[in-house]
Amino acid sequence: MEHFDCIVIGAGVSGMTAAIYLKRSNLNVLLLEKSAPGGQINRTASIENYPGFQSIDGPTLAMNIYEQVQNLKIDYRYGNVESVREEHNDKIVKTDMGVFKANTVIIATGRTPRELGLENEKPLTGRGVSWCAICDGPLYRDKIVAVVGGGNSAIEEALYLSSICKKVMIIHRRSELRADPILQEHLKNKKNVEFYYNCVVSTLNEKDGRLSSIIVDHKGNSEELKVDGLFIYIGFEPDTKFLKELDLKMDEDYIVVDSNMATSLPGIYACGDVVKKEVYQITTAVGEGAIAALSVKKEFER
Ligand code: NAP
Repeated sequence: MEHFDCIVIGAGVSGMTAAIYLKRSNLNVLLLEKSAPGGQINRTASIENYPGFQSIDGPTLAMNIYEQVQNLKIDYRYGNVESVREEHNDKIVKTDMGVFKANTVIIATGRTPRELGLENEKPLTGRGVSWCAICDGPLYRDKIVAVVGGGNSAIEEALYLSSICKKVMIIHRRSELRADPILQEHLKNKKNVEFYYNCVVSTLNEKDGRLSSIIVDHKGNSEELKVDGLFIYIGFEPDTKFLKELDLKMDEDYIVVDSNMATSLPGIYACGDVVKKEVYQITTAVGEGAIAALSVKKEFER
């Protein structure tokens, strides 16, 4: 079985940062990812609060970081991690592509966008229902779309969609948005954006295999809204199911860490969106990746 100093699980911005710091510390690191490098930022149209860039789109930032990973010749492999377990002082990481051993592990698996839980949601995914404005937005040029949610993600992506689509409807379950005031102000200045407060999407209607309209419930009344697309931005679920063989301290399925990004188990660290914390930002994910890697480095210096 191949043995590493550290296995980083997840190549989002946090995991890639950790791997860069580990490699530059001359540690033998394996970076595992089940999808494309970059994780959630690949779904982000425009990032305006990452220092050094006035504005950058998520996939470009992801590729810039990935280029650094490649230039450092970091061992980057595809693999869906199925379990992590402890064996004496080693960690055994089982993936669908093989089993690996390491002295330490950094978990940077992030989180997955939440679903509404409606009947037609899965079959209509890619047929009108989407979780990625930057990927699918251009398919709705001059069309009518709705965005569900009132957080930063919903409002940032609605702003992007408003520059492409004929009309964008924001459907939010409360009477006020949760997003940063500056984003709210930008969106409220857009002429082609309509707000539906205290509204919940209850039905997705389909015609010829595509989303044709949505039913929105508002204080006991229902209204049908004709839409070509529906973008869902209602938060996330942490990707931690594969950790059930470990007795890790968790909080609502997020991993609990200390200020060194150490989990409750020796040699296991976590960083980025998979961690229980107050602030979920690209900047914090990057910082936590560096801290986790430097904590691992310290273990090898003892
Ligand atoms: P979020 O802040 O958790 O917001 C989720 C939104 O969806 C809330 O408005 C929530 O309503 C609504 N919601 C949740 N479940 C729902 C359901 N079942 N049906 C209808 N609506 C539902 O999620 P997010 O916007 O994805 O952001 C996640 C984190 O990343 C936040 O900490 C955010 O600040 C951060 N983020 C930062 C940036 C940035 O700074 N550039 C960009 C994106 C995200 P309620 O308001 O009623 O709870």
